[in-house]
Amino acid sequence: MKKGLLIVLSGPSGVGKGTVCKALLKKTNDLTYSVSATTRKPRAGEVDGVNYFFKSREEFMQMIEEDRLLEYAEYVGNYYGTPCDFVEQKLAEGRDVILEIEVQGAMKVKEKFPNGIFIFLLPPSLDELKDRIRGRGTEQEHVIDSRMNVAVEEIALMENYDYAVVNDEIDLACKRIESIIIAEHCKIKTNE
Ligand code: 5GP
Repeated sequence: MKKGLLIVLSGPSGVGKGTVCKALLKKTNDLTYSVSATTRKPRAGEVDGVNYFFKSREEFMQMIEEDRLLEYAEYVGNYYGTPCDFVEQKLAEGRDVILEIEVQGAMKVKEKFPNGIFIFLLPPSLDELKDRIRGRGTEQEHVIDSRMNVAVEEIALMENYDYAVVNDEIDLACKRIESIIIAEHCKIKTNE
């Protein structure tokens, strides 16, 4: 059976990766979302096993030791990682899998899956990005500042990606990503 495509949606915090990813998954049944593990505490409304697998530090360290993570990264004081079993199983079944992860992790996935499709989501501007992080109302000011500093470093890594998609409007960003996935499926190389 033909394997599915591994799609990595990345970009700076607050750019709207989560929102765009959710909107995409709503529009299509052809994509499977990879639920990450994290040591971050759940935000209001987040459900274990749906948004993340919420883990203690000890549990997370054990997942690393047992080599159960495709990649992981420490991001603003917490660990985030992609459990590998699920991703590999779905790809083998021919499903397209989408990872919504930060930039360090995305670059590690690239080492393991050079044929993955790496999409960088961009804010229309840096000012807009800060407004969005602040507007979410979930983070304290010093956390916002560290997320902005990380964002500036992250944007410099864009050249390692296959595609850049500006998130000016969610619908438009989704359309661009859907078009990328369709085009990737039509690629002669993919179908050899
Ligand atoms: P948040 O705390 O806002 O949910 O996520 C913080 C950052 O971690 C976001 O940029 C998000 O995309 C990223 N992230 C979520 N899951 C993973 C993961 O499994 N691996 C990596 N490397 N980053 C992740």
